[in-house]
Amino acid sequence: MIRFINVHKWFKDLHVLNGIDLQVAQGEVVVVCGPSGSGKSTLIRTVNQLESINEGEIWVDGKNVTDPKTDLNALRAEVGFVFQHFNLYPHLSVLDNITLSPMRVKKMERVAAEKRAEELLERVGLAHKKDAFPAQLSGGQQQRVAIARGLAMQPQVMLFDEPTSALDPEMIGEVLKVMKDLAESGMTMMVVTHEMGFAREVADRVVFVDHGRILEEAPPEEFFMRPQHERAQQFLRQLL
Ligand code: ADP
Ligand code: MG
Repeated sequence: MIRFINVHKWFKDLHVLNGIDLQVAQGEVVVVCGPSGSGKSTLIRTVNQLESINEGEIWVDGKNVTDPKTDLNALRAEVGFVFQHFNLYPHLSVLDNITLSPMRVKKMERVAAEKRAEELLERVGLAHKKDAFPAQLSGGQQQRVAIARGLAMQPQVMLFDEPTSALDPEMIGEVLKVMKDLAESGMTMMVVTHEMGFAREVADRVVFVDHGRILEEAPPEEFFMRPQHERAQQFLRQLL
């Protein structure tokens, strides 16, 4: 579903992605972890081309997304993105946040878009909040709405960039639960997170990034039991 082939990216002199090779199969859940500043956000943002790359190729669902001819709107309909800071539209109700893109980009009828939005809100446990505005919701609720909004476009892939790191501790679990359900439903997911419990329980593979390179790529049990690189061992010790 996703393939990175020798991907390089520079921000001026800074070599942020340094030869990334990675494949994510359909239905697979890959957790990306690593120190702050190692290139994790840049890495997942290249998948839907929120960041361009300088060298290499990225393929998503059989399409070369780094080809300048790629239709970025079509790509972003297929690849949902959940940000650390939710990024809901503050002036729109929960329901309108979810129906906006399907109606604008996919030309869905309002009635059908609202029906689907209500189903998605049910799925994330927020059916009763459809008329609320983002500011009236807790951080955990806002993030669950953001996930529902991503799913409304019926994506093939969902990307998450530290979806729980802006949340108060008591709200982290409810968001991780929604993500776990989504993984179990067969969604292909790339998740940047420091929630190692989630990685252990839900990930098929853990990828450890350091200085723009993939240093380790292993099933969670192997990664946690026998990290090969000193940098990964150090990273895991710091999380304890
Ligand atoms: P992570 O998500 O692992 O913390 P990022 O991908 O956000 O890392 O950043 C990797 C490096 O690239 C950092 O040194 C960061 O400061 C730098 N960086 C990120 N975005 C930009 C940008 N738009 N312009 C310049 N440098 C950037
Ligand atoms: Mg980041």
